[in-house]
Amino acid sequence: MRIDIITIFPQMFGEVFRSGIVSRARDAGVVRIEIHDLRAFAPDRHRTTDDTPYGGGPGMVMRVEPLVAAIEGTCSLERAGGRPQVVVLSPRGELLSERLVSELASFERLVLVPGRYEGIDERVVEETGARELSIGDYVLSGGEIAAMVVVDAVVRLLPGAISDPQSHEEDSFSRGLLDCPHYTRPPDFRGRRVPEVLLSGNHGAIRRWRKEQALRATLARRPDLMAEAVLDDEDREILADLMQLSGSSARRPEGSSGEPPESYRRATGELEDWKNRRWRT
Ligand code: SAM
Repeated sequence: MRIDIITIFPQMFGEVFRSGIVSRARDAGVVRIEIHDLRAFAPDRHRTTDDTPYGGGPGMVMRVEPLVAAIEGTCSLERAGGRPQVVVLSPRGELLSERLVSELASFERLVLVPGRYEGIDERVVEETGARELSIGDYVLSGGEIAAMVVVDAVVRLLPGAISDPQSHEEDSFSRGLLDCPHYTRPPDFRGRRVPEVLLSGNHGAIRRWRKEQALRATLARRPDLMAEAVLDDEDREILADLMQLSGSSARRPEGSSGEPPESYRRATGELEDWKNRRWRT
């Protein structure tokens, strides 16, 4: 995959992309990342990339001409790999999710366009057909960090970026569930013991415990995910056990969508427990 980023702050990306999985993936030729200085595409000799907003109001707006020139110039580079997916980072965009990340990872080429100030001239998206993407319901001062988030999440999904691809399958959101908790040595820290099952060497029991923990965490922290979760027979069995434990006879309606029933959250009694745990730490 090739990723191009068009920015007025090219220097922000250096250390981030020289660390960890992204750095290794670049070295291994899994991904090529090119950072372009937007100012090089400014039409005037002062290299202006922003201007005051029409209609008045505070702040500046990123100008359409340099951005479109940069996007079109970048898109026409190296025709191999077809037309890139152009992504403008914006709080008004589609919310980033693991599903969207894996969709982006399927492209040969991505062009990421972080904004600054009040944002970018609306005509950039209209003219280039860019997709607008948000990394969450909050406002950053600039889209460079959002672009780094997209790169990091996408690159780790590329074949060859991670030595053990199975780790993706167990990550949060890959099946629509949160991950289970993890532990390493020592087995006892200030009286807090690692769950015995993880020390048992019984792989079947460990697998089932991890699945149960993933289900408990999802029910307690993100019950909204349950409606879309991909459950196998063992998951359903564990859920049924959890329901029985809690004395609830509630069953998840097949094919239900939206908020799961309140009985789901009550089923494990984990929600209150989780809230208490957060306050205690
Ligand atoms: N006026 C804009 C609004 O309220 O939607 C906010 C502009 S923000 C100060 C400047 C730039 O930061 C945006 O153009 C965008 O590129 C980036 N940005 C801020 N929050 C973001 C988010 N949640 N997701 C993606 N990009 C974001």
